[in-house]
Amino acid sequence: MTILLIAEHDNVSLKPATLHTVTAAQKVGGDIHILVAGQNASTVAQAASKIDGVAKILLADAPQLADGLAENVESTVLKLAKNYSHIFAPASAFGKNVAPRIAAKLDVAQVSDITAIVSADTFERPIYAGNAIATVQSSDVVKVVTVRSTAFDAAPAESGNTPVESVEVPADSGVSAFVSRELAKLERPELTTAAVVVAGGRGLGSAENFHSVLAPLADALGAALGASRAAVDAGYVSNVYQVGQTGKIVAPRLYFAVGISGAIQHLAGMKDSNVIVAINKDPEAPVFGVADYGLVGDLFSVVPELVSELGKA
Ligand SMILES: Cc1cc2nc3c(=O)[nH]c(=O)nc-3n(C[C@H](O)[C@H](O)[C@H](O)COP(=O)(O)OP(=O)(O)OC[C@H]3O[C@@H](n4cnc5c(N)ncnc54)[C@H](O)[C@@H]3O)c2cc1C
Repeated sequence: MTILLIAEHDNVSLKPATLHTVTAAQKVGGDIHILVAGQNASTVAQAASKIDGVAKILLADAPQLADGLAENVESTVLKLAKNYSHIFAPASAFGKNVAPRIAAKLDVAQVSDITAIVSADTFERPIYAGNAIATVQSSDVVKVVTVRSTAFDAAPAESGNTPVESVEVPADSGVSAFVSRELAKLERPELTTAAVVVAGGRGLGSAENFHSVLAPLADALGAALGASRAAVDAGYVSNVYQVGQTGKIVAPRLYFAVGISGAIQHLAGMKDSNVIVAINKDPEAPVFGVADYGLVGDLFSVVPELVSELGKA
């Protein structure tokens, strides 16, 4: 049994989602080979070679792989696929883009967004916005699997010394071209990898309040900012901040839900956080059902008080 794991990276550094996916792959057993498909991506391959418990790093380096176009990553993976029992990728925007093409071309069913490994062919994955967990068994020869990063710890990447091998890259598929990328510049930690998240909802009432009330708390805690969909839809912040079923899935050490009611679609994105603190004026708000600490009160007085106390600590 050998697993091919598609690394997520930006040609310079390995994205943390890759490390979480390695931990999932290790639970399957067998050898793990990591594919770094990119351009001038040897520093990424070197970073991958430091991950413990990996047998081989495959470096596919070519101009047509510079921007992670799904068609070119797919053809690179297909050239290698016959050697593998499993193909793993993170269930991130990148993995969700490339894995279905690979599964379709191999004529196998993809197992998406897994949160646990039961055995080499059986996996758990959340359904109905995380309200039920399905156990899925695949009888396909090659199992194409995407992994929910927040369900697995990051594999250590310190003491490994895995050899890097170059692999042949098929010609540019020519069916897509990279045009441009607009990256949101965040002054705070990135939402999906932050240790602390301060998220706000419709209870904040306006974009101005969202920033004036929550930014000092986020600053005091070194936290990323997040938001409910209602806050995004009302224009308080852009949708890069949205947490939930149709937003980002996060599992920080500490999650603050401020003026958020706790609809199931929001909980689907944050209920695996280690410690959840809810601040809401309504004692019946469903968010208190998942909160480790609940504070019933007006956020406009409670949050500034909290910031002032943190300042004294
Ligand atoms: C298909 C689908 C997908 C969805 N995806 C997502 C998603 O990804 N993420 C998401 O968040 N939602 C999602 N939603 C929307 C979701 O159902 C809720 O509508 C949304 O989460 C509500 O956001 P909210 O909690 O900010 O607003 P509300 O439900 O309006 O809650 C506001 C809360 O603020 C409290 N409040 C008000 N004023 C104060 C105050 N002064 N002090 C303290 N508390 C106060 C209120 O008591 C209330 O509990 C989705 C819905 C659908 C149908």
